[in-house]
Amino acid sequence: MDNPFGLLAELTYRCPLACPYCSNPLNLADYRDELTGEEWRRVLTEARDLGVLQLHLSGGEPLLRRDLADIIATAHGLGLYTNLITSAMGLSRTRAEKLKAAGLDHVQISIQADNTALSDKIAGTPSFQRKIDAAKVVKELGWPLTLNVVLHRMNIDRIGEIIMLADDLGADRIELANTQYYGWGLTNRTALLPSRDQLARAEPVVRAHRERLAGRMEVIYIIPDYYSEYPKPCMDGWAKRQFTVTPNGDALPCPAAHTLPLPRANVRDDSLEAIWTSSRVFNEFRGTDWMPEPCRSCFRRDIDFGGCRCQAFLLTGDASRTDPVCVLSPDHEIVAKKVAAANRPRRPASPGTGEEVLVPRPHR
Ligand code: SF4
Repeated sequence: MDNPFGLLAELTYRCPLACPYCSNPLNLADYRDELTGEEWRRVLTEARDLGVLQLHLSGGEPLLRRDLADIIATAHGLGLYTNLITSAMGLSRTRAEKLKAAGLDHVQISIQADNTALSDKIAGTPSFQRKIDAAKVVKELGWPLTLNVVLHRMNIDRIGEIIMLADDLGADRIELANTQYYGWGLTNRTALLPSRDQLARAEPVVRAHRERLAGRMEVIYIIPDYYSEYPKPCMDGWAKRQFTVTPNGDALPCPAAHTLPLPRANVRDDSLEAIWTSSRVFNEFRGTDWMPEPCRSCFRRDIDFGGCRCQAFLLTGDASRTDPVCVLSPDHEIVAKKVAAANRPRRPASPGTGEEVLVPRPHR
């Protein structure tokens, strides 16, 4: 069994934004009993003892935790590399200076588009200018800056302008990742999934900017897996290199694994070592023995691990089936139909049909 390398600490699911692609659980009320700072101190210590080197602090919006600087100071004291994943709402210069003093190593800011009108529309709240101001503070304080942009039908045609904005802000890295269809993203899939034409237009734009920015800014571009021939490698292997702890202390092999019908493992009940080595949720899909055909005898089984367990469950009702994204999956028709629907001529919003209608994630 491998030791984990990275921990995604989801400190809270509270968030000032209401993005329609949010992958967090729909049942947010189940996560209001958040771990205390003292409990996080124990979790981080146990994580370090298990081998974790990188800590990603996320949410919701982690800046809503008043004790964020204390949590970062604890992690820094344990020798962990800390990365703050934030909407930047609330990242004033004063707050940023406190996080810097606590030892924060890296900041990743989400932006929704390259301009105020579209960005605020997608975020569901005025936020664009505050994100830009915060990104400037991040650079002024000497942090490496990553911008993260979730792409979808509404913003993918602005991909060139988005990359130029990142360049203007001096970002060191930009992640342009198409929506993953979990949580609100799955609810809004029809309205979010881009067309093949949109993807065909975006690809050469990304390639040209990547060449132009080589050596200055890293440009990561991830197409929707619905358009891929084979699925994404699920977490680089289930319970192999990283894990997630949710605001209420559930430990999960991947951030979406709360959707699976498996017994919960919680850091309030067990040590991280016991959960990592012995819990059912971490062992259910470890390795390759659980695989059905066609994965079991497939040449790619150690490359993509049969795809995403959560996506398999959400689309087929059985988490042990081959990810329907795969062209070899007996369930691939499910994905093919959604792709075909995304490439039909668009109709105006039709109340009652779900077509084109976006359901925003509620503010919490
Ligand atoms: Fe991956 Fe399974 Fe598809 Fe092979 S059959 S490519 S292992 S998902």
